[in-house]
Amino acid sequence: MMLTTIAPPATGRPRVPLAPVLSRASFVSGGLPQPPSVLDAGAVRLVTSGRIAIALALREMGIRAGDSVLVPAYHSMSMVAPVLACGARPQFYKVGADAAIDLADVASKLDASVKAIMVTSYFGFPQPLAAVRAFCDRHGIALLEDCAHAFFGRHGGRSLGSWGDYAIASSMKFFPIYEGGALVSARHALTTPAPHSAGLGFEAKAALNALENSFSWRRLPLVHAALWLPLRVKALVWRLVKRGGAPALTPSSSDSSYEFDPRWLDKRSSFFSRQVLGHASHGRIVVRRRANYTELANALGSLPGCRPLHAQLPEGTCPWLFPLLVDDPEPLVQRLLAAGVPMTRFAETLWPGVDASVCANSVHLSRHVLGFPCHQELQPDEMAWLIDAIDKAVCT
Ligand SMILES: *Cc1c(COP(=O)(O)O)cnc(C)c1O
Repeated sequence: MMLTTIAPPATGRPRVPLAPVLSRASFVSGGLPQPPSVLDAGAVRLVTSGRIAIALALREMGIRAGDSVLVPAYHSMSMVAPVLACGARPQFYKVGADAAIDLADVASKLDASVKAIMVTSYFGFPQPLAAVRAFCDRHGIALLEDCAHAFFGRHGGRSLGSWGDYAIASSMKFFPIYEGGALVSARHALTTPAPHSAGLGFEAKAALNALENSFSWRRLPLVHAALWLPLRVKALVWRLVKRGGAPALTPSSSDSSYEFDPRWLDKRSSFFSRQVLGHASHGRIVVRRRANYTELANALGSLPGCRPLHAQLPEGTCPWLFPLLVDDPEPLVQRLLAAGVPMTRFAETLWPGVDASVCANSVHLSRHVLGFPCHQELQPDEMAWLIDAIDKAVCT
């Protein structure tokens, strides 16, 4: 055996950004047309996270204590907490091997307590929404279309977000922002009052966190230079404020937590996030994500022991991540982390009690799907590095 490095694996900082980071290019449309997004579906409330939007949607539906809400067994924990917060009972339904909703299982779970169903278009790939819509109409239950992974896209001739009675989005998964989610309805007037600002501290922190994240990835060098002094001053003030035991200025939803904090129900997304949402090139987001997804699929699609969760990227789909199904995840994950490859393991932790007896496919997907970034802000050298690093980790 050859002598190789004996240094411990560098599992520190990822080498390319997992999520979008602000750059000058974020705002350059290059003449691309504006693609449809969930915000076009109807009335909108811009809030600080997707989970807050879920809670507001359930409230709009009139979900109360004693009601049941059908939730996919393949889920993020942040989808379940809002159901419990309104006193309802989550009931978990099965998905297929490709994460498609199992309507036969859903039908078997219907009873008088079931008032609504949450349906997620995982990784941006649409569920069979026409069939789901017809099912909900037939059985008189409300449809909450979870577009947390599908901010953009069309399916069955309609934009995503327009199939549900209500839809939610997690804007921070698609835009270079620190916080942001949306509640939308194409079918009902919203009774949720317009949310209001969470205050200057929140507004400042939302802007600075997005900018500092961008600087840390060497984007926006001129802005960084111009803001060098104000940022030093800010860091000093922040330390003093923290010493005074200030309350959290931003929601924990922005820090990879699954918690649900009802104090954010009436708070509006920050001015900064709303500006980025409005002025970033939406066309570029869709085009770049599709191109990066395709590059990853072509380069990694036929490596041994893994295959893309979806064989095709349908027209009109804007992917959140590139989901790769791997046979033997744990050793591979260790090698990827050691190499600094960022990834998201969606649904890695399922709600307590959701095991193979509830849905074997969900448990399998939660362990075997690795989601690699394909976002619009990955630069060509970063894409090349990512592909090479994954290739090496798989083929070791
Ligand atoms: C992230 C996510 C949510 C919640 O969005 P947050 O903005 O993190 O609150 C809801 N559903 C799914 C499928 C998600 O991945």
